[in-house]
Amino acid sequence: MRPSARLHAELTAIIDRAYEAADQADGSVIRTLLGDLTGTGLDQRTAAFLGQAHRLALDTTAALTSVLDTHRFGSCCSECGTSDPCRTIRGISEIFIPISGAP
Ligand SMILES: [Zn+2]
Repeated sequence: MRPSARLHAELTAIIDRAYEAADQADGSVIRTLLGDLTGTGLDQRTAAFLGQAHRLALDTTAALTSVLDTHRFGSCCSECGTSDPCRTIRGISEIFIPISGAP
């Protein structure tokens, strides 16, 4: 597999795992636990973020999957036509590769 195709496959696997993790999380349990934090000093902005985090994780990973599908790699990027990783794939990899611990 070409390095660019391998990078694309690696990113796709990372995003797929993130989506699966979010999809398997129980939103009702998250809401219950968030409710249990009432009165513990949790500020409203943090509570609001936590209340949306599950949905945001699902939506963000689905959107990234769409971007990766648009920039899929055969002999070149299907969207940009570059033979090296395109700017979009490089940008996404700069964010996710260090987090995953992948080389
Ligand atoms: Zn591209």
